[in-house]
Amino acid sequence: MATADIQAFLDDLYAQLQPLRQGQLACYIPELAKANPDWFGISVVTLDGRSFDVGDVQQTFTIQSISKVFVYAMALEDYGREKLLKKVGVEPTGDPFNCLIRLDEDSKRPDNPMVNAGAIATTSLITGQDPADRLNRLLAMFERYIGHEVFIDMSTFLSEKATGHRNRAMAHLMLNFGMIDEPLDDALDLYFQQCSVLVNTHDLAVMAATLANRGINPITGTQAVDAAHVRDILGVMYTCGMYNFAGEWAFRVGIPAKSGVSGGILAVVPNQAGIAVFSPPLDSHGNSVRGLKVFEALSQEYGFHLFDLSLGRCRFTAALGEDS
Ligand code: GLU
Repeated sequence: MATADIQAFLDDLYAQLQPLRQGQLACYIPELAKANPDWFGISVVTLDGRSFDVGDVQQTFTIQSISKVFVYAMALEDYGREKLLKKVGVEPTGDPFNCLIRLDEDSKRPDNPMVNAGAIATTSLITGQDPADRLNRLLAMFERYIGHEVFIDMSTFLSEKATGHRNRAMAHLMLNFGMIDEPLDDALDLYFQQCSVLVNTHDLAVMAATLANRGINPITGTQAVDAAHVRDILGVMYTCGMYNFAGEWAFRVGIPAKSGVSGGILAVVPNQAGIAVFSPPLDSHGNSVRGLKVFEALSQEYGFHLFDLSLGRCRFTAALGEDS
């Protein structure tokens, strides 16, 4: 049975990679250093709502930078692409995510919404009457993608708020250039809150499957984001989603994806599936070590690379279909 083959492939991959002991936990946010390096989960959700899960897929963790994709999507809906482009570019930097002074020399825009400066600028644009209203809009947005109520991890939020001097400095720099507005603390709090949203690996796979399914959550049927924005969202993920490894990722794996410093990677195979991996030890770029290996193997096995997909070489639908 083909779906049994998919599950067996994931089970094998998990068994092979579980013993890996490479990588370091992110420790610049004190709460993240408390993670268990053995946590490891893989989840694949199909567009008809089937899921293949292995490992610690119910273990919760904070979403961190993966949130940037969804807040960018919200800003696209609030402002439209051209207006948003004036505030935040779409150019990969080749620099680490927290790189400090990289605003475009002429426009003073942050390079893209996946680096911290661009993400803070994007978050500062989220509309709402007051901080509570903006936070509630943001949580409601995440709930449309995930399909259940979401919560913020207070200790991580407070930990980031207390130690996020670099993010604060970026916000001040952007304020100086007129790229974001006062009050900075409101925007920074909302940014730290979005990074502290609790998810598990299965949730991330459902979020990814929603983007793979033209913005419709395949489990609940809710339109989480207007289908018209999905191409722009995936475009930015593809070029900027994997820190300063984005080019090599596009070459080797070729799936629009976003990773975060808590060890999650979310990836969207358009029209096929949403995939997520969680494993906290990170490589020097800030990407999950086990996560990278899982995606290389999956891309190879099922022909998930965008340029395999576009040449009709994807083998996933066939693998699923043979079963029915
Ligand atoms: N909250 C983290 C920060 O701003 C997110 C970093 C990440 O996941 O890349 O430093």
